[in-house]
Amino acid sequence: MNTKGLFRLPKFVLFGLAALVLTLAVGMAIPIQQNVFSNGLGQSVIASSLAAPATTTQRVTELKKQMMDSWQQEAKQKGVYQEIPKRYQGVTLNAVKPNQNDKIVALTFDDGPWPKYTEQILDILKENNVKGTFFVIGRNMKNFPEIGKRIVTDGHAIANHTWHHWYHRLNPKAAAYEIDATEEIIYKTTGVRTNLFRPPGGVLGNGPAAYAKSKKYSVIMWSADSHDYKRPAVPRLLSNVMRDSKPGGIVLMHDGGGVRDSTVKALPAMIEKFRNSGYRFVTMPEMLEIEDKELQMAKK
Ligand SMILES: [Zn+2]
Repeated sequence: MNTKGLFRLPKFVLFGLAALVLTLAVGMAIPIQQNVFSNGLGQSVIASSLAAPATTTQRVTELKKQMMDSWQQEAKQKGVYQEIPKRYQGVTLNAVKPNQNDKIVALTFDDGPWPKYTEQILDILKENNVKGTFFVIGRNMKNFPEIGKRIVTDGHAIANHTWHHWYHRLNPKAAAYEIDATEEIIYKTTGVRTNLFRPPGGVLGNGPAAYAKSKKYSVIMWSADSHDYKRPAVPRLLSNVMRDSKPGGIVLMHDGGGVRDSTVKALPAMIEKFRNSGYRFVTMPEMLEIEDKELQMAKK
């Protein structure tokens, strides 16, 4: 055997092998690069690090699953968030006046998230397939984030009710903090950015409401007060709400900040009473959207 020939052959094979290895390396590097993607929450997820020894097929399957999960999460959050029609930005509302007395009503709950009561109310709303609006307190969102998250994942609207729930007059800086810090904790916890505000105690002249309006929030008051914070018996609470009920009405209740047994006890009967009278339940963003469309139609 010619040693020169032997030497020449491996040299030739080596060259080919080197090209092959290079091709393979590039081919493997590309899918690994593509496995870095955003999950929609501002975080990058490196899928390959989650399944290091997996085959390409497994990696692709894993990647698809993760993209699906993050997409669903995003869609869920976006489904809850609705930009407020222009005509309601910077405006204070007690109710809307739907066409043909369209029997829509919004159930609203203030001062949560709160252990036990918020969860009981969420259970009742889920059982009855009702969506409501929760005006949350910033520091309660901070203390009970899981309950706050559930408000959104259950499909309800979430809104701003200040950080501390103060009634006294606030200087501009303090008023801004009450709104902005609450907006941020809601966003950080749930991914929802709200522009609905309700002032604590319905006090409009102490700073926060004016600041909220300047930031194009819609200030949402109410047309039917359950007076549930006085812990009335169920029939009393129901008559408080039903006697002031009207199409386009907004019902004020509380899920947090104290003992809310009356609210929890009265809620199933209230839902039944409204439904028996032909009402359907909408969230505040939905109510504003419906009214805005009706007003646009009327103009045409
Ligand atoms: Zn309140």
